[in-house]
Amino acid sequence: MKCMKYGVVGFSGRMGKEIINVFTDAGHELVLKSDALGTERGGRPDVILDFSSSAALPVTIALCEGYAAPLIAGTTALGDADLTALKTLSEKVAVVQSFNFATGVTLLRMIMRDYAPLLESWDLEIEETHHNKKKDAPSGTAILLRDATGRKNAPTHSMRIGGVPGDHSLRFGNEGEILTFAHRALSRGVFAIGALSAAAFAVEAKPGFYTFEDVLNKGRKV
Ligand code: NAD
Repeated sequence: MKCMKYGVVGFSGRMGKEIINVFTDAGHELVLKSDALGTERGGRPDVILDFSSSAALPVTIALCEGYAAPLIAGTTALGDADLTALKTLSEKVAVVQSFNFATGVTLLRMIMRDYAPLLESWDLEIEETHHNKKKDAPSGTAILLRDATGRKNAPTHSMRIGGVPGDHSLRFGNEGEILTFAHRALSRGVFAIGALSAAAFAVEAKPGFYTFEDVLNKGRKV
Protein backbone atom coordinates (compact mmCIF):
# COMPACT_ATOMS: atom_id res chain seq x y z
CA MET A 1 0.00 0.00 0.00
CA LYS A 2 1.29 3.47 -0.95
CA CYS A 3 2.32 5.66 2.01
CA MET A 4 -0.59 7.93 3.00
CA LYS A 5 -0.29 11.26 4.76
CA TYR A 6 -3.17 11.35 7.20
CA GLY A 7 -4.84 13.52 9.82
CA VAL A 8 -6.69 12.38 12.94
CA VAL A 9 -9.46 14.31 14.67
CA GLY A 10 -9.59 12.92 18.23
CA PHE A 11 -5.91 11.91 18.11
CA SER A 12 -5.52 12.01 21.92
CA GLY A 13 -8.51 9.71 22.57
CA ARG A 14 -8.65 5.92 22.88
CA MET A 15 -9.50 5.39 19.20
CA GLY A 16 -7.14 8.12 18.01
CA LYS A 17 -4.22 6.34 19.71
CA GLU A 18 -5.21 2.97 18.18
CA ILE A 19 -5.42 4.55 14.73
CA ILE A 20 -2.00 6.15 15.06
CA ASN A 21 -0.50 2.78 16.18
CA VAL A 22 -2.02 0.85 13.28
CA PHE A 23 -1.22 3.51 10.65
CA THR A 24 2.36 3.96 11.96
CA ASP A 25 2.95 0.18 11.85
CA ALA A 26 1.71 0.19 8.23
CA GLY A 27 4.17 2.99 7.29
CA HIS A 28 1.77 5.95 6.97
CA GLU A 29 2.64 9.49 8.04
CA LEU A 30 0.66 11.55 10.55
CA VAL A 31 0.61 15.16 9.32
CA LEU A 32 -2.39 16.69 11.12
CA LYS A 33 -3.71 16.22 14.65
CA SER A 34 -6.85 17.72 16.14
CA ASP A 35 -8.65 17.30 19.43
CA ALA A 36 -10.70 19.29 21.92
CA LEU A 37 -7.66 21.50 22.61
CA GLY A 38 -7.04 22.53 18.98
CA THR A 39 -5.44 21.54 15.67
CA GLU A 40 -1.74 21.06 14.81
CA ARG A 41 -0.94 21.11 11.08
CA GLY A 42 2.30 19.59 9.77
CA GLY A 43 1.42 19.01 6.11
CA ARG A 44 -1.33 18.31 3.62
CA PRO A 45 -3.24 15.11 4.47
CA ASP A 46 -4.34 12.65 1.76
CA VAL A 47 -7.12 11.53 4.12
CA ILE A 48 -8.59 12.60 7.46
CA LEU A 49 -10.06 10.28 10.10
CA ASP A 50 -12.52 11.57 12.70
CA PHE A 51 -13.13 9.44 15.81
CA SER A 52 -14.02 12.13 18.32
CA SER A 53 -17.34 13.84 19.04
CA SER A 54 -20.15 15.32 16.95
CA ALA A 55 -19.05 18.72 18.35
CA ALA A 56 -15.86 18.38 16.26
CA LEU A 57 -17.72 17.90 12.98
CA PRO A 58 -17.75 21.53 11.72
CA VAL A 59 -13.94 21.72 12.14
CA THR A 60 -13.48 18.31 10.52
CA ILE A 61 -15.62 19.30 7.54
CA ALA A 62 -13.72 22.59 7.14
CA LEU A 63 -10.40 20.66 7.20
CA CYS A 64 -11.60 18.18 4.56
CA GLU A 65 -12.88 20.99 2.33
CA GLY A 66 -9.70 23.03 2.80
CA TYR A 67 -7.40 20.14 1.84
CA ALA A 68 -9.87 18.43 -0.54
CA ALA A 69 -9.18 15.37 1.63
CA PRO A 70 -11.51 12.37 1.89
CA LEU A 71 -12.95 11.61 5.32
CA ILE A 72 -13.28 8.44 7.38
CA ALA A 73 -16.08 9.33 9.79
CA GLY A 74 -16.13 6.99 12.80
CA THR A 75 -17.72 9.15 15.49
CA THR A 76 -20.96 7.74 16.90
CA ALA A 77 -24.00 9.56 18.31
CA LEU A 78 -24.29 11.69 15.17
CA GLY A 79 -27.64 13.41 14.68
CA ASP A 80 -29.60 13.82 11.44
CA ALA A 81 -28.07 17.28 10.87
CA ASP A 82 -24.55 15.80 11.25
CA LEU A 83 -25.31 13.07 8.70
CA THR A 84 -26.77 15.65 6.32
CA ALA A 85 -23.58 17.73 6.68
CA LEU A 86 -21.47 14.64 5.88
CA LYS A 87 -23.62 13.92 2.81
CA THR A 88 -23.15 17.50 1.63
CA LEU A 89 -19.36 17.12 2.12
CA SER A 90 -19.50 13.88 0.09
CA GLU A 91 -20.48 15.92 -2.99
CA LYS A 92 -16.88 17.22 -2.94
CA VAL A 93 -14.80 14.38 -1.45
CA ALA A 94 -15.21 10.69 -0.63
CA VAL A 95 -16.73 10.15 2.82
CA VAL A 96 -16.73 6.66 4.39
CA GLN A 97 -19.07 6.73 7.37
CA SER A 98 -19.68 3.86 9.76
CA PHE A 99 -20.58 3.50 13.41
CA ASN A 100 -18.48 0.32 13.36
CA PHE A 101 -15.38 -0.44 11.28
CA ALA A 102 -15.15 -4.12 12.35
CA THR A 103 -15.52 -6.62 9.51
CA GLY A 104 -17.65 -9.00 11.62
CA VAL A 105 -20.19 -6.33 12.51
CA THR A 106 -20.51 -5.26 8.90
CA LEU A 107 -21.13 -8.88 7.83
CA LEU A 108 -23.66 -9.24 10.66
CA ARG A 109 -25.44 -6.15 9.35
CA MET A 110 -25.59 -7.65 5.85
CA ILE A 111 -26.94 -10.94 7.30
CA MET A 112 -29.59 -9.06 9.30
CA ARG A 113 -30.70 -7.07 6.28
CA ASP A 114 -31.15 -10.26 4.25
CA TYR A 115 -32.52 -12.68 6.84
CA ALA A 116 -34.21 -10.75 9.71
CA PRO A 117 -37.38 -10.32 7.55
CA LEU A 118 -37.77 -14.14 7.67
CA LEU A 119 -37.99 -13.87 11.49
CA GLU A 120 -40.53 -11.05 11.44
CA SER A 121 -42.97 -12.93 13.68
CA TRP A 122 -40.30 -13.80 16.28
CA ASP A 123 -39.51 -11.65 19.33
CA LEU A 124 -36.26 -9.70 19.03
CA GLU A 125 -34.11 -8.29 21.86
CA ILE A 126 -30.79 -6.53 21.26
CA GLU A 127 -28.02 -6.27 23.87
CA GLU A 128 -24.78 -4.30 23.85
CA THR A 129 -21.98 -4.03 26.41
CA HIS A 130 -19.19 -1.44 26.37
CA HIS A 131 -16.49 0.02 28.63
CA ASN A 132 -17.58 2.37 31.38
CA LYS A 133 -16.20 5.51 29.63
CA LYS A 134 -18.53 5.23 26.63
CA LYS A 135 -20.70 8.34 26.44
CA ASP A 136 -23.59 7.25 24.17
CA ALA A 137 -26.20 4.53 24.73
CA PRO A 138 -27.43 2.54 22.94
CA SER A 139 -24.24 2.24 20.92
CA GLY A 140 -24.11 3.38 17.30
CA THR A 141 -23.51 -0.26 16.38
CA ALA A 142 -26.66 -1.44 18.18
CA ILE A 143 -28.64 1.18 16.25
CA LEU A 144 -26.98 0.19 12.97
CA LEU A 145 -27.78 -3.51 13.55
CA ARG A 146 -31.31 -2.74 14.73
CA ASP A 147 -31.92 -0.61 11.62
CA ALA A 148 -30.67 -3.51 9.48
CA THR A 149 -33.39 -5.77 10.94
CA GLY A 150 -36.01 -3.22 9.86
CA ARG A 151 -37.37 -3.23 13.46
CA LYS A 152 -36.53 0.23 14.77
CA ASN A 153 -38.58 -0.33 17.96
CA ALA A 154 -36.90 -3.59 19.00
CA PRO A 155 -35.98 -3.41 22.72
CA THR A 156 -32.27 -2.55 23.06
CA HIS A 157 -30.37 -3.03 26.32
CA SER A 158 -27.06 -1.35 27.21
CA MET A 159 -24.48 -2.28 29.85
CA ARG A 160 -21.42 -0.16 30.72
CA ILE A 161 -18.80 -2.19 32.54
CA GLY A 162 -15.01 -2.32 32.86
CA GLY A 163 -12.93 -2.09 29.68
CA VAL A 164 -15.13 -4.03 27.19
CA PRO A 165 -14.30 -2.79 23.62
CA GLY A 166 -17.75 -3.79 22.28
CA ASP A 167 -20.13 -6.79 22.50
CA HIS A 168 -23.37 -6.93 20.52
CA SER A 169 -26.03 -9.59 20.24
CA LEU A 170 -29.39 -9.95 18.56
CA ARG A 171 -31.62 -12.62 20.05
CA PHE A 172 -34.67 -13.85 18.16
CA GLY A 173 -37.17 -16.14 19.88
CA ASN A 174 -40.48 -17.89 19.35
CA GLU A 175 -42.29 -20.49 21.47
CA GLY A 176 -39.92 -23.26 20.38
CA GLU A 177 -36.54 -21.73 19.51
CA ILE A 178 -34.01 -19.08 20.41
CA LEU A 179 -31.62 -17.91 17.67
CA THR A 180 -28.73 -15.66 18.77
CA PHE A 181 -26.32 -13.69 16.56
CA ALA A 182 -23.38 -12.25 18.47
CA HIS A 183 -20.22 -10.26 17.81
CA ARG A 184 -17.37 -9.48 20.18
CA ALA A 185 -14.56 -7.04 19.43
CA LEU A 186 -11.48 -8.40 21.22
CA SER A 187 -9.68 -5.05 21.08
CA ARG A 188 -10.13 -1.51 19.69
CA GLY A 189 -7.43 -2.42 17.17
CA VAL A 190 -10.04 -4.04 14.91
CA PHE A 191 -11.76 -0.68 14.37
CA ALA A 192 -8.43 0.96 13.53
CA ILE A 193 -7.57 -1.84 11.06
CA GLY A 194 -10.97 -1.31 9.42
CA ALA A 195 -10.37 2.45 9.33
CA LEU A 196 -7.06 1.78 7.54
CA SER A 197 -8.85 -0.27 4.82
CA ALA A 198 -11.43 2.51 4.55
CA ALA A 199 -8.68 5.15 4.18
CA ALA A 200 -6.95 3.15 1.43
CA PHE A 201 -10.34 2.86 -0.33
CA ALA A 202 -11.19 6.56 0.14
CA VAL A 203 -7.96 7.98 -1.31
CA GLU A 204 -8.76 6.16 -4.59
CA ALA A 205 -12.53 6.79 -4.56
CA LYS A 206 -14.55 9.44 -6.38
CA PRO A 207 -16.52 11.91 -4.24
CA GLY A 208 -19.51 10.14 -2.71
CA PHE A 209 -21.01 8.80 0.49
CA TYR A 210 -19.77 5.29 1.26
CA THR A 211 -20.21 2.78 4.08
CA PHE A 212 -17.75 0.19 5.36
CA GLU A 213 -19.84 -2.35 3.44
CA ASP A 214 -18.74 -0.61 0.20
CA VAL A 215 -15.10 -0.96 1.35
CA LEU A 216 -15.51 -4.71 2.06
CA ASN A 217 -17.42 -5.31 -1.16
CA LYS A 218 -14.66 -3.66 -3.20
CA GLY A 219 -11.95 -5.86 -1.64
CA ARG A 220 -14.15 -8.96 -1.29
CA LYS A 221 -11.54 -10.21 1.20
CA VAL A 222 -12.70 -10.70 4.78
P1 NAD B 1 -12.31 9.35 23.83
O1 NAD B 1 -13.18 10.07 24.79
O2 NAD B 1 -11.23 8.46 24.35
O3 NAD B 1 -11.61 10.41 22.83
C1 NAD B 1 -12.34 11.48 22.25
C2 NAD B 1 -11.36 12.33 21.45
O4 NAD B 1 -12.14 13.34 20.78
C3 NAD B 1 -10.34 13.09 22.31
O5 NAD B 1 -9.12 13.20 21.59
C4 NAD B 1 -10.97 14.47 22.47
O6 NAD B 1 -10.02 15.51 22.72
C5 NAD B 1 -11.60 14.63 21.09
N1 NAD B 1 -12.68 15.61 21.09
C6 NAD B 1 -13.74 15.69 21.92
N2 NAD B 1 -14.49 16.79 21.64
C7 NAD B 1 -13.87 17.39 20.59
C8 NAD B 1 -14.15 18.56 19.83
N3 NAD B 1 -15.21 19.34 20.09
N4 NAD B 1 -13.30 18.89 18.82
C9 NAD B 1 -12.22 18.11 18.53
N5 NAD B 1 -11.92 17.00 19.21
C10 NAD B 1 -12.74 16.64 20.24
O7 NAD B 1 -13.31 8.53 22.89
P2 NAD B 1 -13.01 7.23 21.99
O8 NAD B 1 -13.27 5.99 22.80
O9 NAD B 1 -11.69 7.39 21.32
O10 NAD B 1 -14.19 7.32 20.92
C11 NAD B 1 -14.27 8.42 20.04
C12 NAD B 1 -15.48 8.23 19.13
O11 NAD B 1 -15.27 7.09 18.28
C13 NAD B 1 -16.79 7.96 19.88
O12 NAD B 1 -17.86 8.57 19.19
C14 NAD B 1 -16.90 6.44 19.80
O13 NAD B 1 -18.21 5.97 19.97
C15 NAD B 1 -16.40 6.24 18.39
N6 NAD B 1 -15.98 4.88 18.03
C16 NAD B 1 -16.27 4.49 16.77
C17 NAD B 1 -15.87 3.24 16.35
C18 NAD B 1 -16.17 2.84 14.92
O14 NAD B 1 -15.75 1.73 14.51
N7 NAD B 1 -16.87 3.68 14.15
C19 NAD B 1 -15.19 2.37 17.21
C20 NAD B 1 -14.91 2.80 18.50
C21 NAD B 1 -15.30 4.08 18.91
